[in-house]
Amino acid sequence: MEPKRPLIIAGPCSAESEEQVLATAHALASTGKVDILRAGVWKPRTKPNTFEGMGVKALPWLKKAKEQTGLPLAIEVANTSHVESAMKHDIDIFWIGARTTSNPFSMQEVAEALRGTEKMVYVKNPTSSDIELWCGGVERLLACGVKNLGLIHRGFAGYGSGDLRNAPMWHIALEMRRRMPDLPIICDPSHICGNREYIKDISQQAADLDYDGFMIESHINPDMALSDAKQQLTPEAVAKLVESIKWRAGESASQAYQMTLMSLREQIDSLDGEILQLLAERMSVAEDIGRIKRDNDVRILQSLRWESIAERTLARSASLGLSIEFLQTLLDAIHVESINHQNKVMKE
Ligand code: PEP
Ligand code: MN
Repeated sequence: MEPKRPLIIAGPCSAESEEQVLATAHALASTGKVDILRAGVWKPRTKPNTFEGMGVKALPWLKKAKEQTGLPLAIEVANTSHVESAMKHDIDIFWIGARTTSNPFSMQEVAEALRGTEKMVYVKNPTSSDIELWCGGVERLLACGVKNLGLIHRGFAGYGSGDLRNAPMWHIALEMRRRMPDLPIICDPSHICGNREYIKDISQQAADLDYDGFMIESHINPDMALSDAKQQLTPEAVAKLVESIKWRAGESASQAYQMTLMSLREQIDSLDGEILQLLAERMSVAEDIGRIKRDNDVRILQSLRWESIAERTLARSASLGLSIEFLQTLLDAIHVESINHQNKVMKE
C-alpha cells in the first residue's frame, strides 16, 4: 500500500516583516515538503497589549512570497474586512480561528463575507470543548454556499491539558469526523503543544488516527518570533518532522495479524460486556440503598461516603495504570447515574 501523502500547511504564526515572510517562505519551499504557506495577518489575542499582527500591510509580502515560491497562501479571517482585503490580495485558502468559531456572531459575519466562495475554508475547533459550536461553524458556512470545507483540530483550552497548551481531547475530533466524514481533518500540533518539544509526539498520534494533514507554525528564527515563539519550528525542523512521521497502513493482509486482531477484539467485546453488566448491578445495589434511605427518611447525598469512595479509587490510579483524569471522569459519571437511580426510587 502506498504511504499516505498528508497535506502540509506551514508558515509563521504571524507575518512580521517582508524579510521574515520571504525568508521563511523560501526556506519552507526549498524543503519540498510543504504544500501551502500559512501566516497570521490579524492576530486575535487572548490578552490586550500583545502583538496583534501587522494587518493589511502584510498582505503584499505574502503575495510576493507566493509569486517567488509558487506556494499557495492560507490566512486566518475573522470579519468582513479581513475577507475583503484577503480576496483583493489573492489569498487562496482561509481558516477560521478558534476564537472566531467560539462566537456565533463572528462566525455568522465571516460566513456571510465568504458567501459563495469556491476557495477552501478550514474551520478550527472552538477554544472550549463544545462540539456543537464547531459543527455550527461548518453549518453556517454551508448555509452560505461555501462547499470546499475542512476541519482543523487545535486542541481545547483549560481542561487538564498538563504540559500541553491545549488538551487534544482526540475523541471530540474523532466524533467530528464521524459527523462530517467528507471533510478533511488537519491537525495543528503547534497550538495543541504550545512548545516545540512535544510536536513530534502529537503529530505521530494524529497520523495514527488517520488525519489528512498538518498545519505547523514555522519561523525563520523561532526564538525571535513576536507571537507563539516557543511552539514555532525552523523550516528545517518542519522538514525533519514531516520525514519522521510514520504513516502506518490502515489494514494489513497478513493472516497472523488478522487472527490476533480478531482474538483481541473478542476480548475487548467480552470485557466491555462484563463492565456494563457490573455497572448495571452496581446501579441496582444503589437502588436498594435508595429504598432503605427512603424508608428511613435519610437524604440521598452523603458527601463523606462519596469522598471516601473517590479517595480510595484515585489512590489506586498508579497501581491500575489508569490516569487520575480518567478515574475522575468515570467516577463522576457513575456518581451521577447512581444519584439518578436513587432519585427514581425516592419518588416511588
Ligand atoms: C493561529 O493559527 O495562529 C491561531 C491564532 O490559532 P488558533 O485560532 O488555533 O488559536
Ligand atoms: Mn499561533
